[in-house]
Amino acid sequence: GFKMGIVGLPNVGKSTLFNALTRTAAAQAANFPFCTIEPNVGEVAVPDARLDKLAEIAQSKSIIPTRMTFVDIAGLVKGASKGEGLGNQFLANIREVDAIAHVLRCFEDGDVTHVEGRVDPVADAETIETELMLADIESIEKRLQNIVRKVRGGDKEAVQQERLMRAALAVLEEGKPARVVEVDDDDLRAWKMLQLLTTKPVLYVCNVGESEAAEGNALSARVGEMAAAEGNMHVIISAQIEEEISQLEPEEAQMFLDEMGLSEAGLDRLIRAGYELLHLETYFTVGPKEARAWTIRQGTSAPKAAGVIHGDFEKGFIRAETIAYDDFVGLGGEQPAKEAGKMRAEGKSYVVKDGDVLHFLFNT
Ligand code: GDP
Repeated sequence: GFKMGIVGLPNVGKSTLFNALTRTAAAQAANFPFCTIEPNVGEVAVPDARLDKLAEIAQSKSIIPTRMTFVDIAGLVKGASKGEGLGNQFLANIREVDAIAHVLRCFEDGDVTHVEGRVDPVADAETIETELMLADIESIEKRLQNIVRKVRGGDKEAVQQERLMRAALAVLEEGKPARVVEVDDDDLRAWKMLQLLTTKPVLYVCNVGESEAAEGNALSARVGEMAAAEGNMHVIISAQIEEEISQLEPEEAQMFLDEMGLSEAGLDRLIRAGYELLHLETYFTVGPKEARAWTIRQGTSAPKAAGVIHGDFEKGFIRAETIAYDDFVGLGGEQPAKEAGKMRAEGKSYVVKDGDVLHFLFNT
């Protein structure tokens, strides 16, 4: 599954957000309620109205949404890259996630201490990014000597690694994140192997006050400008409201949202933004027993998509009987779609599309 790390300075609302994410009534009602893997790791059901629609048509007994994992990575402070405040452990946690949700304090509250003594989300973002850049510089410098030795010894792969490390180092030393480096397709694998923290995609989460959740405020607007300039995404959320919503039953939650002038829970927006950020999409398997959603990266071939369900499905892949979501719903289910000629037999080279309803045929 895909993992999103929640980072940010202390007291910005990370834990509040994490708790809201993992304790929502919706997450609880899902077939696999959020399971705590560790106290700071939770799996969240990805809300998708299409899945409910498919299950209704196929009269599926159970509905199983796809999941996203969130990790609450506390403890990032100024100096973390030097190992202060158990910094190295936190940096190791960040290394393992696919993307970073960077929570920024955009609420004013005299009762909640700010570590730097002032509320300035743009400066906070820079503080954290600087720590991540310093950590990347340090990790590259540590490895570079060894790589240079290998290059002298005639190691071909090391030549590529050294070139990529130096490219990363050059931008990092200019104070820019490694993600600004343009990487050729041929280098992508080796680039990923460097496991740099500042190559992870970032989503800024502006934690605003309760009355500002719909429109945001001047601070979140500044974050929005910064994000746009960097080519990153941002969402506006009130972690406190989300925590309150997470304790309500779904109907009550909807009423509460309406009262606040919000069209949907911030958590749903956060999860969808995470999907967009990671270029993820969903396909479905639908039958009388269960309707289930599965997550893949955009551009995934049918056998690889089958492999998400089980490795044997990928190995023995023959074909995928495919019905587009709109056809399945528009025509009223699998049988009518089939009769209307809308079920396609797709082979190994087929690239799965978001919303496809798939049935895999495979050799065992
Ligand atoms: P963390 O250290 O980043 O995990 O921050 P917490 O989630 O523990 O929040 C720190 C404090 O800020 C707690 O007392 C929260 O209740 C409070 N807090 C979090 N979000 C908000 C918010 O949107 N508005 C206000 N006023 N307080 C908040």
